[in-house]
Amino acid sequence: MSVSPVSSPLPLLFGKARRPLGWQGYTTEVPEGWNPGKYSGTRARGDLRVDDENGMRLELRWEESQKTPDVEKSVANFLQTLQKDAKKRKSAFQIVENPHIVSRGRKKKEQVTSFGWIGEAKSEASCGFGAAWFCPTCDRVTFAHIVGQPNEKVAKIERLAQEVLGPLECHGEGGWDSWSFFDLQIEIPSEFELGRAQILLSKIEMEWVRKRPVGLYGWGRRAERLKLWRFPAASALLSDIQLEDWTRFNLLNTHKQLVYPNPAEAGRVNGHDALIYGGKIKDPRQAVPVWFFDKLLRRVTPKPILHVWDCPLSNRIWALESEVSKANLHVGRQALDSLQCH
Ligand SMILES: [Zn+2]
Ligand SMILES: [Zn+2]
Repeated sequence: MSVSPVSSPLPLLFGKARRPLGWQGYTTEVPEGWNPGKYSGTRARGDLRVDDENGMRLELRWEESQKTPDVEKSVANFLQTLQKDAKKRKSAFQIVENPHIVSRGRKKKEQVTSFGWIGEAKSEASCGFGAAWFCPTCDRVTFAHIVGQPNEKVAKIERLAQEVLGPLECHGEGGWDSWSFFDLQIEIPSEFELGRAQILLSKIEMEWVRKRPVGLYGWGRRAERLKLWRFPAASALLSDIQLEDWTRFNLLNTHKQLVYPNPAEAGRVNGHDALIYGGKIKDPRQAVPVWFFDKLLRRVTPKPILHVWDCPLSNRIWALESEVSKANLHVGRQALDSLQCH
């Protein structure tokens, strides 16, 4: 039997099972079981809370800043607020001096400021370690914070914060962002803003929207959209109904904006058979201007396209709808190709 070479590195302490996390341009890897709990805002300003089965784990806040901000001062203010709250509750609170969570020399990050605090061991948030910085590429101040749960060892949380926040990036590359959570991963152009998002046990529904252009080019156009659905327990959902009928009842008949006439074309996605639908705008007040300006400006607005497929490997039904301009037809297909369904 061969002995494993001494030189091969062992995984990091919390490097066991991990999954990518991607949200509003941010990407890192988190332990498995960490998923978005609460989220709000936009790419310009918002927050995301990531929970594990016991409660809060990671808090991420960001805000666009036109002027160069004073990150160190904001961090000091944040710690002061925590300290005041602790004093009011008469509970223990101690600031950790100079922790090293995110390296000051991280490329493209300015004013990297690490921080840490230790509170009452029994309390819901027993300690916290994090970092804040300003990024001149995405113009955002980022504030990222890992929180300890009751009676967790402080050193463990500090280590966890280093592992999760050390590699945290605040913007995607080449104009595309990775969105990943709940074993879902898809690439979406950064110019598409997150619209409606519903993350439920029974389904995930996410929509990204790019506003219609202003001026002549935007006349009669609708916003460009990408919309993703994921439904669990496909084998149960499809136990006595064909995918095409299921799609009609669950996606097409309830669609507020578009109609998808039969029949569906057959196609392939990620090695699975897929149904492909070409859509039409339901509301004539929206459909007529598109038709009119298409004629007037001699342009062609492509039909919205819906792909629906059953992935037996993940036991999920997936659907991706794209409504894009002719120049962006590649976007719909590339988002589809980037999606990992299993
Ligand atoms: Zn950035
Ligand atoms: Zn699949």
